Amino acid sequence: MDNIVSLCKRRGFIFQSSAIYGGINGCWDFGPLGVELKNNIKQDWWYTFVRQRDDIVGLDASILMHPDVWKASGHVDEFNDLLVDCKECKKRFREDHFNPEEDCPNKPHCNGEHLSEPRAFNMMLKTSLGASEDTAVHTYLRPETCQSIFVDFKEVYSSSRMKVPFGIAQIGKAFRNEINPRNFIFRSREFEQMEIEFFCKSEDEEPCFETWKHDIWQWYLDIGLTESKLRWYNHPAETLAHYSSRTEDIEFDFPFGWGELQGLANRGTYDLTQHTKHSGKDLSYFDQQTNERFTPSVIEPSAGVDRTALALLCDAYHEEEVEGEKRIVMKLHPRIAPIKAAILPLVKKDGLAELAQDFEKKLRKKFPTFYDQAGAIGRRYRRMDEVGTPFCICLDYDTKDDNTVTIRDRDTMEQIRLPMDDVAAYIEAKCTNERD
Ligand code: ATP
Repeated sequence: MDNIVSLCKRRGFIFQSSAIYGGINGCWDFGPLGVELKNNIKQDWWYTFVRQRDDIVGLDASILMHPDVWKASGHVDEFNDLLVDCKECKKRFREDHFNPEEDCPNKPHCNGEHLSEPRAFNMMLKTSLGASEDTAVHTYLRPETCQSIFVDFKEVYSSSRMKVPFGIAQIGKAFRNEINPRNFIFRSREFEQMEIEFFCKSEDEEPCFETWKHDIWQWYLDIGLTESKLRWYNHPAETLAHYSSRTEDIEFDFPFGWGELQGLANRGTYDLTQHTKHSGKDLSYFDQQTNERFTPSVIEPSAGVDRTALALLCDAYHEEEVEGEKRIVMKLHPRIAPIKAAILPLVKKDGLAELAQDFEKKLRKKFPTFYDQAGAIGRRYRRMDEVGTPFCICLDYDTKDDNTVTIRDRDTMEQIRLPMDDVAAYIEAKCTNERD
């Protein structure tokens, strides 16, 4: 894990937030390559689950919402995580995450034996809206993106004329005052979620759940995660959240152990019923074909962008021995890789640099590219391997004669020769989001 964290910092994927001030726990900044990676994840998810489907529409709602939303959702009263204090080392832990072996700096003494009784703690981050303290409205930074989907349910279905079964998708920031942010970006205080609330009839809950199980699993394979590093975790009935009758998580085998990537929950009619009750506005649905009015049930796939990014980075990281030298290579799927192609003149002189720069300017209109003329070609390949660039295009003396270039494949390191005019289409075909 240390190697991955240091590569992320060294090459501009992920930095600690506010590092020059000593950092702030649980907050991370995505650098030039990290933001491309994250955008690719979000775009691929949106492409798969919104654009390619007739039964899902999108939403981009405000992070700040009326404070009553969080009463209705149960976050104010029900979502109190249990917290324990270690009387020896004075640290505080979430009871459900506590691992005496790892967490307590004072392991030999504490060993989890000197913990206080668990106390309720609310993980929402409070904020105030308004200029003066006495008139300010106190609300929270949303701890999950889904509540705005429930609150906007009627607006969305009536304006888009969607008919049950259908879903509403949203990608956006969420905030939780995690007690123990840890494992790099796995558990942070500010993160992004990709959520779908899929509305169906109550009798369709189970088949709908099964279909979603298949679809979300397949997406992780499509973006390149190794299937043997994925597994399902089925929540036992006694640990289910107050709104859920069934929850299963997809977990990934991170270097620090298995951890949740995405939850799939059957939320039944809980949320729409709660918001109807608290707002006084009817959020039921009228089915014009059957002349029935009912409150739809909800199946919710809820994924984290940051955890997906971390899983992809961990899975992609490889150290290999090539001709007696160590090569670090990030084997990211081409559709997820931040830079799709590097354009490298074999040498700077004899007009090759200018030729390569012109070529790079043409290609950058199609996909993210990088131009590099500094150093030996082998070293330039290595720099690109380390950030997961799937294709390196080299312009050499033959290019001047016959307008062909070599394209080196990051994983096999094999090279093919192609006419310059065919390069864009060749790379686009490898990087497309389109599924076979
Ligand atoms: P955990 O048990 O790990 O705290 P959770 O079950 O509370 O997670 P959900 O409320 O189901 O998480 O949120 C859905 C998704 O949002 C998670 O699967 C995860 O990918 C992401 N997520 C939740 N909390 C965090 C966090 N603190 N940092 C980064 N991502 C998170």
